[in-house]
Amino acid sequence: MTQDFNLKSALKQYFGFDSFKGDQEEIINSVLNNNDTFVIMPTGGGKSLTYQLPALITEGTAIVISPLIALMKNQVDSIRGFVDDDSVAHFMNSSLNKGELNRVKQDLRDEKTKILYVAPESLTKQENIEFFKSIKISFVAVDEAHCISEWGHDFRPEYRRIKEMISGIDDRIPVMALTATATPKVQLDIQKNLGMSDANVFKASFNRPNLFYEVRPKIQAEKQIIKFIKENEGKSGIIYCLSRKKVEQIAELLQVNGVKALAYHAGMEAAKRAKYQDMFLMEEVDVIVATIAFGMGIDKPDVRFVMHYDMPKSLEGYYQETGRAGRDGGEGVCLAFYDYKDIEKLEKFTTNKPVAEQEIARALLNEVVAYAETAMSRRKFLLHYFGEEWDEENGEGKNMDDNMVNPKEKVEAKDEIKLFLETVINVKEQFKPKHVVDVLIGKQSAEVKSNKHHTASFFGSGKDHDRKYWMAAVRQSLVAGLIGKNIEQYGTIFVTDEGKEFIKNPKSFMLIKDHDYDQMAEDANAI
Ligand code: ADP
Repeated sequence: MTQDFNLKSALKQYFGFDSFKGDQEEIINSVLNNNDTFVIMPTGGGKSLTYQLPALITEGTAIVISPLIALMKNQVDSIRGFVDDDSVAHFMNSSLNKGELNRVKQDLRDEKTKILYVAPESLTKQENIEFFKSIKISFVAVDEAHCISEWGHDFRPEYRRIKEMISGIDDRIPVMALTATATPKVQLDIQKNLGMSDANVFKASFNRPNLFYEVRPKIQAEKQIIKFIKENEGKSGIIYCLSRKKVEQIAELLQVNGVKALAYHAGMEAAKRAKYQDMFLMEEVDVIVATIAFGMGIDKPDVRFVMHYDMPKSLEGYYQETGRAGRDGGEGVCLAFYDYKDIEKLEKFTTNKPVAEQEIARALLNEVVAYAETAMSRRKFLLHYFGEEWDEENGEGKNMDDNMVNPKEKVEAKDEIKLFLETVINVKEQFKPKHVVDVLIGKQSAEVKSNKHHTASFFGSGKDHDRKYWMAAVRQSLVAGLIGKNIEQYGTIFVTDEGKEFIKNPKSFMLIKDHDYDQMAEDANAI
């Protein structure tokens, strides 16, 4: 009780807020009680405060590991602003000269510093470890903890050494991990790698009910973009493209069409990028056409649309990028243009990478394809991907995606789902969806032959339907929990207990056939 009271007053005193957001208070209590604590919260959820506040009110210095040197300075400045004391927060990274570093160390020795941001490469230096051993550390917070996982969208090998470094300082220091990436696989990797399987886990919902999700076939996308922007004149928006060249082309196209638009990518000088970013924030331009280099740390509340001219490499990326729309809770349209050829291009980029990396990249891309082609609620699909159940009848944000607004007809697929589940078992639950579908439709692929499935009695048992039908069956069985994916095996599928029950007692299963974007493109070209 006293602690609750103290926490509230500390919140008010340091940050000027009257109440905690979401699970902030529980998270802070977990840290204050010296527990390992894992925070999974979407961007904008208020993660920073969950380590800043306990850091400010406990004895010693909290080390915050952050991969973004550019953002460290902002964070440090903002904490110094709350407390009105320059010694209270510092950062330690390669941008400091010797003199600056010595001053930071002196403040740490004098116990003036409550929060120290450290780049992972600085933490791994032996001399720094020795130094940290000589001061009191309250806890270590690993920000952007998904960088630990190869399944995250921003893998950093040096993040994998963090645990070793913490143990080098003192094994008993409580560890906090924070991320906005919620896939169960990434979560598992983080907990394993940081040795925090007993951590208190706080996972917030990733549902963004005010965002509208739509995927359109990429047919004359430029025209569609211009039309959309004209209909939404004056609204702020971001258009993501994969290549710098495309970014410049689209920006130019918009400019000649009278749209206040600018290009933004990592090939431009830093000063120019900073200027363009400011112009967007100050509403001197309406639209930024950018590669994914744009957006990190940008907090513009009234971005009204985020478009993907090209599909991104993963659904995590898609979620992060679309998440920049509608931060203020107002309108946020997320429009993506899909063409399977783009996916093939993305796949080609990975061919010179190590095999494991290629497999991961392909598995992530397959999810993007599944999302694009599905005719079920996009929100439901996305949230399921993040390990979250969502009910399209009553869930917040229902009817806020194209597939819910224009539902496709459903067909009874009770027998087919049973046949599919049996086939998964017949191939010993050792294969990915594509192989199972090849077996069902009777396609003699190299993998089918090398496993002698083409001579099996069940080969071709589902040839009454085509590949698209069966892929829809795979995805919807997954979301319904009848099958699971073995992520360690890059996506081989197995039948869950629920699925086994279904085989014994089949029930009605209304299948929604996927969109056929290839067909739509053909139709459009024929006109
Ligand atoms: P995240 O790190 O999860 O992306 P931030 O820590 O940047 O989120 O917080 C997002 C915004 O929410 C910030 O502007 C922050 O000041 C604000 N915020 C955080 N906690 C509270 C609170 N308890 N009350 C009001 N605003 C808050």
